[in-house]
Amino acid sequence: MSTLSRRQFIGAASGAAAALGLAACGGSGSSSSSAGSGSAGDGGFTKDPYTIATDTVFAPFEYTDDDGNFVGIDVDLLAAIAEEEGFNYDLQSLGFDAALSAVQSGQADGMIAGMSITDERKEIFDFSDPYYDSYVCAAAVDGSEYTDLDSIKGHKVAVKTGTQSAAWAESLKDEYELELTYFDESSLMYQDTTTGNSVACFEDYPIMAYGITQGNGFKIIATEEEEFATPYGFAVLKGQVPELLSAFNAGLKSLKDSGKYDEIVKKYTEA
Ligand code: GLN
Repeated sequence: MSTLSRRQFIGAASGAAAALGLAACGGSGSSSSSAGSGSAGDGGFTKDPYTIATDTVFAPFEYTDDDGNFVGIDVDLLAAIAEEEGFNYDLQSLGFDAALSAVQSGQADGMIAGMSITDERKEIFDFSDPYYDSYVCAAAVDGSEYTDLDSIKGHKVAVKTGTQSAAWAESLKDEYELELTYFDESSLMYQDTTTGNSVACFEDYPIMAYGITQGNGFKIIATEEEEFATPYGFAVLKGQVPELLSAFNAGLKSLKDSGKYDEIVKKYTEA
C-alpha cells in the first residue's frame, strides 16, 4: 500500500510537471494557445483533474526507471496530449486488472495501460483511436529446454490476470494441458518463471521483446499474431467523459502529425 501511495504521488507530480511544462514552454512547437488553462470550458472538460489509471510494470509503456521516476510511452503520450489539449489529470499506477476495475466502478475516468482494443471490451469501454500495434507471445527462460508450445505441454505456466495474453493461454489450456497461475503484475509472472515454478509465461510481444533487449533472460518460444493481434487504445467507460476521449484522439493526431509521437516511441524503444 505504501508503494501505491508513492506511485500515486509520482503520478500527481508528473501531472503537475506537465502543467508546469505548459506554462514554461507554451510558445515552443505548435501547441495551441488555449492549452494551459486546463480549466473546464475550452475543450468542454468537465473534471479538473481527470483521474487516469495505468499499470504498474509494463515497460516500455509504464514503469519506474532507475531514478525512481514513473515513465514510459503511455506516460509521455498522455502528458503530451494533455498539454496539447489543455486538460489536467492525476495518473494512478494501479496495475492492469485494478485499472480495468477502477474505470468500471467510476473511481477512474479513463485508463492508458497498453490496453488492447477488443470487441469484448468494446461492450464496456469506449476506446480512442489505436496508438500502438501489438500481439501476444509465450516466453521461457533463455537456455532452458522449453522451445515451443509442444515442449511446455502438461506444465505450469504464468499469466497476468485480465489480459489478452492470458486469454490466449486459456485458449491453449486444454490442447496443451497447461496449468495456469495468475499474477497481477508482469514482474511477478516473470519471477515465477525464472524461479522455475512455471516453465513459461504469456505476455504481449512488444513488452517481452523490449524486456529481452533489457536483459531479462527470456526467449520467445511462440507468438499469436492473428486473433490476438490487437492495437492499444486509451479507454473510458462506455458513454462517459466523451470530451476526454475526443481530446485524446485530437491530441494523438496532432502528435502524430508533428512527429512528437514518433519521438516518444523512439525515446523508449531505441537503445
Ligand atoms: N495488452 C494487454 C491487454 O490489454 C495487456 C495489458 C497490460 O498488461 N497492461 O490485455
